Amino acid sequence: MRELPVPQWLILTEALHYRLIPGHPKHPEVEKDLAKIKAGYKGELTLSYYVKQLPNEKYYIFHDLQLELNGIHFQIDTLLISRNYILIIEAKNIIGTLIFDNVFNQLIRINQDGSEDVFEDPRVQAETLRMLLGRFLAKYGINFLPIDQLVFFSNIKTNLKTNSNDINAFKKVCKRRDLFNKIEVFEKTFPQSKIDDNTLLKIANFLLSKHTPKKINILEKYGLTARDIISGVRCPQCLNIPMKYDKGKWHCSICQTTSKDAYIEAIKDHFLLIKPSITNAELRGLLHLPTNDTAQKILFRLHLPYEGKNKARLYFPSKL
Ligand SMILES: [Zn+2]
Repeated sequence: MRELPVPQWLILTEALHYRLIPGHPKHPEVEKDLAKIKAGYKGELTLSYYVKQLPNEKYYIFHDLQLELNGIHFQIDTLLISRNYILIIEAKNIIGTLIFDNVFNQLIRINQDGSEDVFEDPRVQAETLRMLLGRFLAKYGINFLPIDQLVFFSNIKTNLKTNSNDINAFKKVCKRRDLFNKIEVFEKTFPQSKIDDNTLLKIANFLLSKHTPKKINILEKYGLTARDIISGVRCPQCLNIPMKYDKGKWHCSICQTTSKDAYIEAIKDHFLLIKPSITNAELRGLLHLPTNDTAQKILFRLHLPYEGKNKARLYFPSKL
């Protein structure tokens, strides 16, 4: 079992959204991406809620499994493994009327004003993942189990349509609770146990051991540098940056909130957005502290792992 984590993309994009200097031209793009990532995560949470209801003696469930095959990094939202088969489930959270265009294999959203958005056909995405996972497992000599795939729409407000009469083309697409019907069909398609419980456990552990999260440089993604990022402590109440430091506390001039530990989020943001280390001087600048001594006291209090001496000493993230 691998529980659904908060996606790294979400954590990073949210931090960037907080800290991009006000009025920056990239703001609308970051905001739009953040909304998309949040919707996707919500879809995965719904899927996770449903798959949890499957009998756990039958299935191992993995969320957000990230694997690498010959330099290709691929990510599977949800993976089920039983003694009979492996199932990849791609979660989609897209509101509106969606038309599966079966001629060009694309997904078209019709908006209320009549305009259209075009998405990649999730059936093609899921099929590609199946192929990659098949090749990945074959590489390690694990090819005892058939692999199949399913596309899951999480939102009740999604209206699925198609321009095709070919029902077979949609056997691997479902919405919400229809998931359980589809899984029943898969179970009938793969009635034979191919492996014993021990081998199943070994495969599950193997996949976990191969989980390789992709390193993301969020500033690079948007063509930004550290200069596009605002320093200072963020108000936990109204999100205003910066709060003002005074006698061991930070004060918000907008909503008058006072906080002793709001600075921790600022350090986390620094590690996420700028770089995975910080010096005394950088911390002083980041938190708008009056003296190096104050910065030193804070660093001392945090018990961060470090390297080097005096001014050049680098502090690294630990569990803040
Ligand atoms: Zn405030």
